[in-house]
Amino acid sequence: MVWWVKFQLPKGNSVDPTCIFCKIIDGNSPSTIVHQDEHAVAFLDIHPAAPVHILIVPRQHIESINALETEHKSLIGHMFTVARDLAKEKGVSESGYRLIINNGSDARQAVFHLHLHLLGGQQMRYPMG
Ligand code: AMP
Ligand code: ZN
Repeated sequence: MVWWVKFQLPKGNSVDPTCIFCKIIDGNSPSTIVHQDEHAVAFLDIHPAAPVHILIVPRQHIESINALETEHKSLIGHMFTVARDLAKEKGVSESGYRLIINNGSDARQAVFHLHLHLLGGQQMRYPMG
């Protein structure tokens, strides 16, 4: 990340103006937002892989799991509780759902703003990988 495309906002939040998810969070790119709070935003995946496919993202631009710092521990926990609540809201809590974080090239991470996929509403394929 070069210095002129990354800058600090108040309260320790950082954004990357070239990042599609930062643009969605800031309202500068269209999306269907299904949840937002002080720390995280959730919106529908543009290419859904299941009847329910939601991305839960931190407001802060964190590139991947590899970029996590100790200070992010509670944020990660928050992303999972948001996913749990959305699963319930979308009616897949009891039928089951899959939570996925892709990290890096072999995992086919395409957007380098940390995101948790919530997938549900169908029988998932197995084995994974
Ligand atoms: P990943 O491979 O884990 O990086 O997944 C990135 C996900 O972001 C993919 O499932 C894409 O379909 C999704 N995606 C990319 N651009 C957008 C967008 N503008 N709005 C919603 N979802 C998006
Ligand atoms: Zn971002």
